[in-house]
Amino acid sequence: MQFIRPAAISVIVLFMLLESGCQGNRSGEPGPPEPGIALSLAEQRARSIRDLRYDLSFKIPTAQADPIAGHEAVRFKLDDISQPVVLDFEPGRGFITSVSAQGRPIAFTAVNGHIVIDKDFLVPGENTIEIVFRAGEASLNRNKDFLYALFVPARARLAFPCFDQPDLKARYTLELWTPAEWQAVSNGAETAREPQGDVVHIKYAQTQPISTYLFTFAAGKFQIETAERNGRTYRMFHRETDAAKVARNRDDVFNLHASALSWLEDYTQIQYPFGKFDFVLIPSFQFGGMEHPGSIYYNASGMLLDESATENQMLGRASTIAHETAHMWFGDLVTMRWFNDVWMKEVFANFMAAKIVNPSFPKVNHELRFLLSNYPSAYGVDRTTGTHPIRQDLENLNAAGQMYGAIIYQKAPIVMRQLELILGSDKFRDGLREYLKRFQYGNATWLDLVKVLDDRTDEDVAAWSKAWVEEGGRPLIRTEMDAQHLAFIQADPQADRSLRWTQKMQILVGSASAVRSVPLEIRGERAELSDFATQSKPAFVLPTGGGLAYGDFTLDDASRAYLLQHLPELKDPVSRGAAWVTLWEELLGKRVRPADFIELGLRALPLEDTEQNVALILGHVSGAFWNYIPESQRLVLAPRLESAFRAGWTRASSSSLKSVYFRSFRSVVRTQEGVQFLERVWRRHEKIAGLVLAEQDEASMAFDLAIRSVPNASSILKEQLARFQNPDRKARFEFVTPALSEDQATRDAFFESLKDVKNRRREPWASEGLSYLNHPLRSPGSEKYIAPALDLLVEIQKTGDIFFPKNWMDSVLGGHNSRTAAQIVRGFLDAHKDYPIRLRRIILQSADDLFRAADILNGSSS
Ligand SMILES: [Zn+2]
Repeated sequence: MQFIRPAAISVIVLFMLLESGCQGNRSGEPGPPEPGIALSLAEQRARSIRDLRYDLSFKIPTAQADPIAGHEAVRFKLDDISQPVVLDFEPGRGFITSVSAQGRPIAFTAVNGHIVIDKDFLVPGENTIEIVFRAGEASLNRNKDFLYALFVPARARLAFPCFDQPDLKARYTLELWTPAEWQAVSNGAETAREPQGDVVHIKYAQTQPISTYLFTFAAGKFQIETAERNGRTYRMFHRETDAAKVARNRDDVFNLHASALSWLEDYTQIQYPFGKFDFVLIPSFQFGGMEHPGSIYYNASGMLLDESATENQMLGRASTIAHETAHMWFGDLVTMRWFNDVWMKEVFANFMAAKIVNPSFPKVNHELRFLLSNYPSAYGVDRTTGTHPIRQDLENLNAAGQMYGAIIYQKAPIVMRQLELILGSDKFRDGLREYLKRFQYGNATWLDLVKVLDDRTDEDVAAWSKAWVEEGGRPLIRTEMDAQHLAFIQADPQADRSLRWTQKMQILVGSASAVRSVPLEIRGERAELSDFATQSKPAFVLPTGGGLAYGDFTLDDASRAYLLQHLPELKDPVSRGAAWVTLWEELLGKRVRPADFIELGLRALPLEDTEQNVALILGHVSGAFWNYIPESQRLVLAPRLESAFRAGWTRASSSSLKSVYFRSFRSVVRTQEGVQFLERVWRRHEKIAGLVLAEQDEASMAFDLAIRSVPNASSILKEQLARFQNPDRKARFEFVTPALSEDQATRDAFFESLKDVKNRRREPWASEGLSYLNHPLRSPGSEKYIAPALDLLVEIQKTGDIFFPKNWMDSVLGGHNSRTAAQIVRGFLDAHKDYPIRLRRIILQSADDLFRAADILNGSSS
């Protein structure tokens, strides 16, 4: 324990404090609060602290290296002063200038990332703690001429002293001092702006009660676009230098926000709760978006699309906007009590987004979109031994970031759709309305919602929730067929658990004359089609055919063989998508040979007219090409893949579909002729009719050429650097370039540099460089990075944002498929038996493809 001694407090009081601390420990009083935010601390604070308000101010200097001075008054009511008040502030005492309570300077303890205010300084009822401090910078994302605070899940305490837990909602009043030429934005509306020489002093209105992870501010050289929609003003902050690009995108971006907002007001029957509506486009933002009320942040490249954007990028933009807007109700207005339930806000944001996006894209098949945007990603984690339940235990918020991932973003919406089917969409919506109204501006748990929904159905929602929400993994489901019976048998992959998942399925049964879609509910071990014996003998059975069923499906042999021949003939695009997803799982389960899968893909592409399915097939064919066939076979296949993809963009009628084909071509191109073609396109000597390539496309092509070791790679990279108009994209390109160097020592130095946290601050840059280092074309020489990258993972988790540990591991392992690489990972796991469980899971998730590929490649001699 360390004390600092403010000038105004007597030495005697200090000694008394020291002494009482020692006595306290001897008499068995609790010791200092543990690092992070323990659940027990959060619960104790939530019981005693009420009516919380923060008055905060930050002085942001022009120079990135100069400190940010902070001042705050924390006001709250206390019911119980028998315990000290513990604030969270990770930077520690070196960053604290003074603390006072009720207007008088006090002594305090700074320990384990907390400030402990002794109970002697507290009063029953209203308390004011005033703190002068230097802001910590780990969550402020300082750049040369802009910064943005990103405090999710519990990183506000890295910047300023606070009670950093979601169920101590507070009203924030903020003042900023920034360089005069900067723009700034926060949750509350700007109420005053006074220039004072070369700085400007800005005041913001007090916010509604919000959680610490939702409080934010951003400042810097931004431009602002403004639009009116349905009587509301929307503002878009951005740093894009390409004015035509902004002009091309701005109306879509505003329209998508306005339509999402009115859809949600209608669905929830609650008006938008947070006053003004701004959003900020941040270059290389570490997430797709973040739902700060009144000030949403987005990754700029996801919002301002190039002319070469694909349909999936356009849908992705609409989904991200709908997702973040839905959070204003689901997450911001009603918030989980603790981060173990963070999945609740994510599931509703994604689930609502799927509904919201629908009317903006009348030509898109939204059932297919739901299938392809959720099932493959959910399976990507749920099939691995690193999977976990949707709802997890969380004993300390310092592990809250590890709650996130495909299980909460993609599996949970699938599960929620099943729940909506059980209740019916009207009862489900009415339940959500009641839940939002009852808990608005407050917090709730999953069990609170289960109770609301349980009252509206005969189904036992709590029992249903057990298998789907409280446990991880997928049911194993196989088809059993003879002349009289068609049945589906489910089993638990964990035999000692014996779970049974209740779910509604839509079975596709195809015969020579017709294909019919049959609804079926499976509850226990077995479900049987009742009228099967009266129907003609099927040519194939696809239990996932309606795009509904979730699990690890083993097709019967006849159906598998049939689909490997006839999949492209299925009429319904959702059925084709579902069949592709199922066959990919069969490939990973070693029941379909990768070469057969690729052959089917090449035959299907000319016949497939739905862009979403084309993108799926191309993604899987490229994935199989790089990961699941040996190099010798790749070189044989490359000419056919390249000409098939070239034929694809020539045939395609839309720019977006051309783009999908061209990107896949860039990913797989191996022939000399193909690489030379790519170089001519990059040099602007050749054009692809109907496809306009943008700065970012050219940058990616320069990297594609460099990774293929073209003779003049370094001059191409240099010339590309000179082509950039946009400083943010240029800086990123410059950062990543050494990872593509021909020179092994330069690549090694790049990897070494990532060991320094400073060089990982821009996480998307680091991930991109790391994945080029470990590209399949460089993979034998890069196996040596795997072990040290694993060694860094604990620190990556401590110093990085939510998604970085998984992105880090994916970037390291994604390009490897050798037995040696798999052994390095297995060896690491064996040598670290007591490794943190959630990080272990991340390794197992990221290594799953590698383990399977090493196994598949080893098993086949061809
Ligand atoms: Zn979200």
